[in-house]
Amino acid sequence: MKTKTSRQTTPQPSAARPFTYKDRTLHCDQVSLTSLAETHGTPLYVYSATQISERFQLFEQAFQDRPHTVCYAVKANSSLAILRLLGRQGAGFDIVSGGELERVRRAHKPALKKVVFSGVGKQAWEIDDALEANILQFNVESEQELDLLAQRAQALNRRARFALRVNPDVFAETHPYISTGLSEHKFGIDIKAARGLYRRAARSKWLEPYGVSVHIGSQIRKVAPFAAALARVTSLVSELCRDGHSIRAIDAGGGLGIDYSDAPFDAAHQVQLYAAALNKGLVGEQARLLLEPGRFLVAQAGALLTRVLVVKKNGSKTFVITDAAMNDLIRPALYHAHHEIVPVRQPIGKAAQITADIVGPVCESGDFFARDRAIAQVKPGDLVALLDAGAYGMTQSSNYNSRPRPAEILVEGDQATLIRRRETMRDLLAPEIL
Ligand SMILES: *Cc1c(COP(=O)(O)O)cnc(C)c1O
Repeated sequence: MKTKTSRQTTPQPSAARPFTYKDRTLHCDQVSLTSLAETHGTPLYVYSATQISERFQLFEQAFQDRPHTVCYAVKANSSLAILRLLGRQGAGFDIVSGGELERVRRAHKPALKKVVFSGVGKQAWEIDDALEANILQFNVESEQELDLLAQRAQALNRRARFALRVNPDVFAETHPYISTGLSEHKFGIDIKAARGLYRRAARSKWLEPYGVSVHIGSQIRKVAPFAAALARVTSLVSELCRDGHSIRAIDAGGGLGIDYSDAPFDAAHQVQLYAAALNKGLVGEQARLLLEPGRFLVAQAGALLTRVLVVKKNGSKTFVITDAAMNDLIRPALYHAHHEIVPVRQPIGKAAQITADIVGPVCESGDFFARDRAIAQVKPGDLVALLDAGAYGMTQSSNYNSRPRPAEILVEGDQATLIRRRETMRDLLAPEIL
């Protein structure tokens, strides 16, 4: 099996991150973060297009021996420019709202036919919109939703291809907020009830039993739970085929994790292990495999660039206060997630280190990026980068404390493109009525 396509634009194709020091300055690909901060201000999200494409191609290669579609999970990073980048390479998309459907339509219309629609609370207008766009598959999460789907399909005189998202009752060993595959979670339909629902649905002329889907959680670092979940799905698919349904797609969901620490990380190897685990669970299956990776494709391609405003001491503690805050990147506050934080100006030799809390200006004690972290000594005005911020960073940002959201830059080789301008005061107040 081929392990990697070599792309001329990539300096170090196997590096876990596209952020490296050149001339003592942190770069994204060939672009200096100092110059980006000068031109576009901070806080600033910076992504490497090269790495996103490479990660996508790792999936394409690892699954090349079976019919498959990589449906990138839009909620990880829903920037139109990134959706277009992936859409043009043949990606489909996993969406969870009518808003995400609109993004796919704007970014790369031909990809609408490769959209799968997930989510536990789809509304009639969202279903209508997706039926009219003729998306590939609705991932249905309740009996009630199945009824609503039939009703909307009838109203629009269209047949809806659906998969039941089954809950395999598999423990994913991840953070409780991002684990979804246990029967105690709100997601999916009890796998034991699925067969009866397919039988019932098949009687409706508006519903086409098309696939079976599963998604057990996010940031999953071991591949065994994926294999276990898929084995359960495959045995359900055999039963469904015996029941006379023609199941055309098996949707394995997303959830493959990355390493947020500074330990070495071999992305290509991870995808191979993942593919081997899925293939083990899929022995003998002919159906098209749908994959919904989000984080794995975009997390390590991105960093949040921020400037130090204040370094202050309170008693024995040191606080580094940056111009980015929890409203820009909420993962540390929400999941106690770890992000590596590095200075943009590379320290020489064994430069002085400090142990500090790195925090934002928002009026919440939960507004922190790191606690008691050893980092290179920094002073007001210095730039630092929060790494691995490409997934669930900008998409979970808010205007809390009336803070305009950051701008976003997409880098390709030595080219930097502004893909979202910084929000203005006018943007901030635009929807309000006085
Ligand atoms: C969030 C989500 C994904 C993507 O998860 P990652 O951990 O980012 O890969 C895929 N499918 C569904 C249904 C999701 O909810």
